[in-house]
Amino acid sequence: MAKRDYYEVLGVAKNASDEDLKKAYRKLAMKYHPDRNPDDKNAEAKFKEAKEAYEMLSDAEKRAAYDRFGHAGVDPNIGGGAAGQDFSGFADAFGDIFGDIFGGARGGRSGNGGQRSNVYRGSDLRYAMEITLEQAATGFSTEIRVPSWESCGTCNGTGAKPGTKAETCKTCGGQGQVRMQQGFFSIQQTCPSCHGSGKTIPNPCNTCDGVGRVRKQKTLEVKIPAGIDDGMRIRSAGNGEPGLNGGPAGDLYVEISVKVHRVFQRDGDDLHCEIPVSFARAALGGSIDVPTLNGRASFDLPEGTQTGKTFRLRSKGIKNVRSSVAGDLYCHVVLETPVKLSDKQKQLLQAFEDSLEEGGDRHNPQSKSWMEKVRDFFN
Ligand SMILES: [Zn+2]
Ligand SMILES: [Zn+2]
Repeated sequence: MAKRDYYEVLGVAKNASDEDLKKAYRKLAMKYHPDRNPDDKNAEAKFKEAKEAYEMLSDAEKRAAYDRFGHAGVDPNIGGGAAGQDFSGFADAFGDIFGDIFGGARGGRSGNGGQRSNVYRGSDLRYAMEITLEQAATGFSTEIRVPSWESCGTCNGTGAKPGTKAETCKTCGGQGQVRMQQGFFSIQQTCPSCHGSGKTIPNPCNTCDGVGRVRKQKTLEVKIPAGIDDGMRIRSAGNGEPGLNGGPAGDLYVEISVKVHRVFQRDGDDLHCEIPVSFARAALGGSIDVPTLNGRASFDLPEGTQTGKTFRLRSKGIKNVRSSVAGDLYCHVVLETPVKLSDKQKQLLQAFEDSLEEGGDRHNPQSKSWMEKVRDFFN
């Protein structure tokens, strides 16, 4: 089949201007685009034909060659290039641009008037809250102040100075969208004058600068549950930034950090603490007072307790934030060497030490096993 003349394909005269070519091609492209003619082979062929013709004639060099030599001068199948590409992938090649052009038409068919809305969900807000270990253990309620927006009282949210009114945007005619020319394609964009609202305010309200809402601080009550741990966060749904154009509000996240405690180290629901014990008390044993998060507790230190020994006090830890089952308190015994001794105390201690030596190494179980290890090491 003989190839049709490019000018004939586009329906323009031989001396057509670039603008005429563009117009003619756009008309054909709109008419025969595969998106508008699904499964129509004839339309697809016409679309390809028009596209090739336009690509050839819109290029000054190719147009000159075509004018002199006809199709032989600009065979799109020779030399590759854009004109020689496979046209089967319409969606890939044209998806974006034509998606925009036909987006309005498609929307129109589905009944939303072809108007795009700019509905956005509001941003989430983060609120950093530092609490003590005691607060984390018991839980508490508190009030926090977070930024929020309120409808402007001066203009009742209209954004217009009292006594004046918002007007329909002249740029977009109230549509909120405008068609922009990009090359020879028409692209739908949010109206730059009204930013999609479809309205302009000739006399903006002084209080809110025409926005219709003002920033305010909002007081929220937050319940911190017992057992909350460092790094956990509490979500307060809908208390983030408000949405745009009727979109839903974001959420507020209260992020908890727990201060380091002077006595207790936390490990999940368990607590750990060090208990300094004099060596006499450790040797003799007896009742030892220990602090807990809710008052004092005590346990019996057995005779001959060594340093580093750990005692577990059940359920004296922190209640789990979900199960409310309390963790345990681990008390780590640290033996304290006495310092700043008087001469008298030194004499007593020396006498005591001498008496221990009379009893052999049975008083010092660790020294005994240590000495044995050293002997084995050298032999
Ligand atoms: Zn507008
Ligand atoms: Zn206002």
